[in-house]
Amino acid sequence: METKHFFIKVSRLSEGENHAQFELDDDFFVSNGSDFISNCKLIADVEISKLEATSRIKFHIHGIVDVDCDVCNKSIGLPIDFTQYALLKITDSVSEDTNSEEEIIYLRKSEDMAYFDELIYDFVLISIPMKKSCDLEGVIKNCDNEMLKKLENLSHDNEDLDDRWDDLKNLKFDN
Ligand SMILES: [Zn+2]
Repeated sequence: METKHFFIKVSRLSEGENHAQFELDDDFFVSNGSDFISNCKLIADVEISKLEATSRIKFHIHGIVDVDCDVCNKSIGLPIDFTQYALLKITDSVSEDTNSEEEIIYLRKSEDMAYFDELIYDFVLISIPMKKSCDLEGVIKNCDNEMLKKLENLSHDNEDLDDRWDDLKNLKFDN
């Protein structure tokens, strides 16, 4: 599997607005360490406003990914649509800019390729809710009732098992 990288060449940027578009697929997430996303159809529209040493980057990421519902386990198509910003700083004296609320990509003057892989990956993962369920806004499906029943039965079975253990515990042995 060849890892796809998303980058721009700074030398190719013109003053003012620049656009780039990247397609994110399942491989991109797997190769970066995440395996709970499938059928990924995401587009990252990237706008770079080039200034002298600092450029402003706008990421508009939109599309749909499949994730499993935490409640019924069914695969749900989760719509993704968000905008995030970052700064691209070209400098040889990299200092931690702790005051900045925005993500910063540092690039040395001798470097030309600015990679966005990590940022895009993090942005998408942050945008996915902790609790993923069929109730989420934009998801068309409802929880799979049959699956819910099966899961419920399964937990009842476990309870029965526990009861039987309790019975066993209550047995008294005569010495
Ligand atoms: Zn569900």
